[in-house]
Amino acid sequence: MENIIIIGTGCAGFTAAIYAARANLNPLILEGKQPGGQLTTTSEVENFPGFPEGIDGFMLMDNLRKQAVKFGARIQNSFINEVDFSQQIKVLKSGADSYDAKAVIIATGAAPRLLGVPGEQEMYGGKGVTTCATCDGAFYRNMDVVVIGGGDSACEEALFLTRFCSSVKLIHRRDELRASRIMAQRVLEHDKIEVVWNSKLNEILPGEDGKVNAITVTDTVSNQSSEISCKGVFIAIGHTPNTSCFKDVIPLDENGYLVPKTGSSVLTSIPGVYLAGDCADHVYRQAITAAGMGCQAAIEAERWLAEQIF
Ligand code: NAP
Repeated sequence: MENIIIIGTGCAGFTAAIYAARANLNPLILEGKQPGGQLTTTSEVENFPGFPEGIDGFMLMDNLRKQAVKFGARIQNSFINEVDFSQQIKVLKSGADSYDAKAVIIATGAAPRLLGVPGEQEMYGGKGVTTCATCDGAFYRNMDVVVIGGGDSACEEALFLTRFCSSVKLIHRRDELRASRIMAQRVLEHDKIEVVWNSKLNEILPGEDGKVNAITVTDTVSNQSSEISCKGVFIAIGHTPNTSCFKDVIPLDENGYLVPKTGSSVLTSIPGVYLAGDCADHVYRQAITAAGMGCQAAIEAERWLAEQIF
């Protein structure tokens, strides 16, 4: 039986692992479908304290992984799809595999949301629709692309794409960006980016090769529809927390975020089960806050374990 299992290898999971490992708890971290979490698909991280020049997202996660392993954390690739927290020993299931643990930290993060418009699924992946400019931007060299959304992610994607693409249109459903002021300013001042305000994406249209060739949008003020030619559609409209396997075990809010015990951000009402990062945080959703929650969760788990007899 494991002392502590941490589900998820994003900022929250690895930080929890560093603290748990340094507390001699010999933690096991289960790595799901996106090793390293969302930051591995980010280009430059400029706001993680301690890196005045910024740090590449992939490198930051690789450093956290090395730091956790250095102190004795073990990492296994395993996607948990069922949990049973009804007994003192918690059971986690991944298909035919099963893990027993005294304590569990849930740090499963969140996944990019899609729009559900015609053409999106059909052309997702290699045919022009994507949620990751860092991963796919270089494939769109000298092409016209669009980015959907108005938050920091959309602005970051748009700015990153200016390195490769001929033009970037940011399609936003309102007349004001949600993004932080500094990101919004960079976008608005960039001569390769045009913001298409008050516009809703209706459909993604393929060319003869079956790949993205255009989109249609409707102006929400005039109700007029128009076509915009583009070869890439980068969707950056936020995230959905990865919490489906906890839905009958831990309360979820209306958007699927895990709800902590009243008065805490990391405790649940189940003794020995803790929350950390974007699976539970719909307010801050930052790498540093996820890391902070991972730290808190591991300290809570360590204190709780010290008082238990198994
Ligand atoms: P977000 O802040 O929730 O923004 C989502 C954007 O997508 C909003 O502009 C929203 O429009 C739009 N949107 C949502 N659903 C839509 C739909 N169905 N159709 C069209 N547009 C839709 O998400 P995010 O940009 O991924 O950012 C998440 C968090 O991570 C934030 O706290 C952000 O600050 C942080 N973040 C920080 C950085 C950085 O600092 N470098 C980079 C990325 C993300 P409305 O504005 O109309 O709601």
